[in-house]
Amino acid sequence: MRQETKCIEAGYTPKNGESRMIPIVQSTTFKYDTSADMAKLFELEAEGYFYTRLQNPTNDYVAAKIAALEGGTAAMMTSSGQAASFFSVFNIATQGDHVVASASIYGGTFNLFNVTMRRMGIDFTFVDPDCSDEELEAAFKPNTKAVFGETIANPSLKVFDIERFAKKAHEHGVPLIVDNTFATPINCRPFEWGADIVIHSTTKYMDGHDATVGGVIVDSGKFDWMAHAEKFPGLCTPDESYHGITYAEKFGKEKAYITKATAQLMRDLGSIPSPMNCYMLNLGLESLAVRVARHCENAQKVAEFLQANENVNYVTYPGLKGNKYYDLAQKYLPNGSCGVISFGVKGGRAAAEEFMKNLKLAIIATHVADAHTCVLHPASSTHAQLTDEELVECGVKPDMIRLSVGIENVDDIMEDIAQALSKASK
Ligand SMILES: *Cc1c(COP(=O)(O)O)cnc(C)c1O
Repeated sequence: MRQETKCIEAGYTPKNGESRMIPIVQSTTFKYDTSADMAKLFELEAEGYFYTRLQNPTNDYVAAKIAALEGGTAAMMTSSGQAASFFSVFNIATQGDHVVASASIYGGTFNLFNVTMRRMGIDFTFVDPDCSDEELEAAFKPNTKAVFGETIANPSLKVFDIERFAKKAHEHGVPLIVDNTFATPINCRPFEWGADIVIHSTTKYMDGHDATVGGVIVDSGKFDWMAHAEKFPGLCTPDESYHGITYAEKFGKEKAYITKATAQLMRDLGSIPSPMNCYMLNLGLESLAVRVARHCENAQKVAEFLQANENVNYVTYPGLKGNKYYDLAQKYLPNGSCGVISFGVKGGRAAAEEFMKNLKLAIIATHVADAHTCVLHPASSTHAQLTDEELVECGVKPDMIRLSVGIENVDDIMEDIAQALSKASK
């Protein structure tokens, strides 16, 4: 099946007389005829369901669809993108371990790593994704357990050189984890470039309708844990909290990582999505290919329109010729990057504020990547307490607008921006 078909068909095939849509199994628990039947599930000797904190059929149908879209062997749904980021790393790194991460990642992920996971005793080295090979090499330590990056960084829109980072990670015997939220598997499949684990905030394009917060972790099934057994004792030695199972032995390369994440992390930390939310996410996934293509088509037109507008200082969009990441985008994202653009309004902070006030269609929101066009002016909202000098220091220009282009008619989007820009320049 091709991607457009997988969006509709993958993950769930109804048998004769069964519901065409995935059933919503809104049940915490599952009934068995004998204790012996249930014991097999507890021992991971049989596949099945006993308690929704560990697994639920509705969630698993959606996980299977996303695994198919990414070309992976197994996947686990989480209650948010944050939970997916956390579990993806914590599944293989613990107290005393170290992770190399791109410095250009979502702010929430940066805080999770740099503050919360440091408190748990996990060390991080952040590298500029455009750093030299020497700088990248120098970031690794004997206790490094993973490398982490974002296909298209939110909000800097830097394109991550997946192949280069995967090669370096593998030289050091560790997997590359890629947050593929902005690109989606429609525009980029990181496994084809050597990534080992992919995560998503499904809250963005996958849901696509502002309806549900969620996340997912997908395993490529290619990383050979046993070949680096000394680095990954959690996967390669018996889990005493799980009847002495050795995940990498019992479940192989294809299933070990996700089985451990489910049986151990989900069991203990419990960040499952509700089956109802997974059902709604599945509705979004059915139209993902169509929507993402439209987001990219609209964003390309809007970016070109902004570039030609006299009231705009600069435009950042990887699909624009002349953008620093244009060549990387052509390599990894030949069919389009995403719907998010950033640009500067001539006249600085005050003019940007005026621009925001005059928008009629585009809504002001911190959210990105869904059907509605939305805008954020960090200097007058999320970063309003900072002076112009402080803003520049943290990489946010006072005149900078982040625009998430929706799937409305693009002429309506451009007309709205044009009228607000002309008022801002007065
Ligand atoms: C939003 C986002 C997250 C966090 O996801 P939530 O679903 O909000 O928890 C992680 N990574 C990226 C790239 C995001 O845009």
